[in-house]
Amino acid sequence: MHDAMTRYIHAGRTPQAFGGLVNTPIFRGSTVLADSFASWEASKKNGNPYSNYGRFGTPTTRSFEQAMAELEGGHGCLVFPSGLAACTHALLAFVSAGDHVLMTDNIYGPTRSFASNVLSRLGVDVEYFSPLIGAGIAALMRANTRVVFAESPGSLTFEVADLPAISAAAHEAGAFVLLDNTWASPLYFKPFEHGVDVSIQAATKYIVGHSDALLGTATANRRAWEILKAGAHDFGQTASPDDLFLALRGLRTLPIRLQQHWRSGVALAQSLSEHPGVSQVLHPALANDPGHDLWKRDFLGASGLFSIRVNTGDTAVLGRLFDNLKLFGIGLSWGGFESLVVPVGQPVRSCARQADEGYLIRVHAGLEHIDDLIEDFHRALDIAFGKCCVAVA
Ligand SMILES: *Cc1c(COP(=O)(O)O)cnc(C)c1O
Repeated sequence: MHDAMTRYIHAGRTPQAFGGLVNTPIFRGSTVLADSFASWEASKKNGNPYSNYGRFGTPTTRSFEQAMAELEGGHGCLVFPSGLAACTHALLAFVSAGDHVLMTDNIYGPTRSFASNVLSRLGVDVEYFSPLIGAGIAALMRANTRVVFAESPGSLTFEVADLPAISAAAHEAGAFVLLDNTWASPLYFKPFEHGVDVSIQAATKYIVGHSDALLGTATANRRAWEILKAGAHDFGQTASPDDLFLALRGLRTLPIRLQQHWRSGVALAQSLSEHPGVSQVLHPALANDPGHDLWKRDFLGASGLFSIRVNTGDTAVLGRLFDNLKLFGIGLSWGGFESLVVPVGQPVRSCARQADEGYLIRVHAGLEHIDDLIEDFHRALDIAFGKCCVAVA
């Protein structure tokens, strides 16, 4: 099956195994009984489709893991109770004291905090690299470099990384490549075709798709699978069957929702770039974005998440802007049907970066009509800047 839409409808579903029910039911449970000593022994063997304890998953878990492994194009998938837990436990599965980790500078903020606060405390040396480094990352490789952790486009500033070049250099040095693939979802970036060893999703975002559950996944190729799995099991990672059911439900409509988020995100970003109060739009699907060529080469589509910079940090102007948006809620997370904005200001960075061109605001284009979204944002910008933005700045 080559058509993505068709794959998403059927992945991980086996109605014949569940009385014909079209959706895998919610299986709740901790104890799983064995019929006999022999079946207990057999249940511990590799290849048992189910587990012998709820923490290792139920048929609901298997259904979602199989769907995700297929859709990401990996060997196996594990679930975690949040996207952040998937990022941190994937890292913990690979590193030991004395190892060196290279992490992209535009990594999701809480993953950065984990690396700085926890990995450092455990004796792991964390070094941040510019998302634009490409093949130049070879110069940062050390004998003890165990993991290169990437996110592309990265959080808040949306630079696109040259993942094939980064992966080639990492593999040359014997390191594993972990990618936070949440922005593109498995639909628009094929991690394993670009050299990634472990692809992580905050399924909380587009996969669940309705802002009503937290969930993470980590999917590995054959090379990384046993290491990832052992690490996650040692830490007791698992996820609620109710949340997994919601994620399975979300998967079925992901392609059709994402097409709309993509279209609206680009149209909104384009229109905001024309407002005089907006100094910069950070969206790799826009033709004049510095990451556009790499995005076009490696990605199959875009999500609805991007950032803008406005040309003032004046809290009165910002207050008027945020308070006059009617369709964009002020709030964290994204990937649901509703439009959102987050006031950021200046993201935390370690490497040299382009000059700041104003106060950064992250925008998520939801599924409202695009004309309404454009009208709402422009009206709020007009009010905020009193239509004389250059003077206010
Ligand atoms: C939201 C997010 C996460 C964390 O997901 P949670 O489910 O909120 O823990 C990780 N990475 C990226 C890129 C995200 O946007």
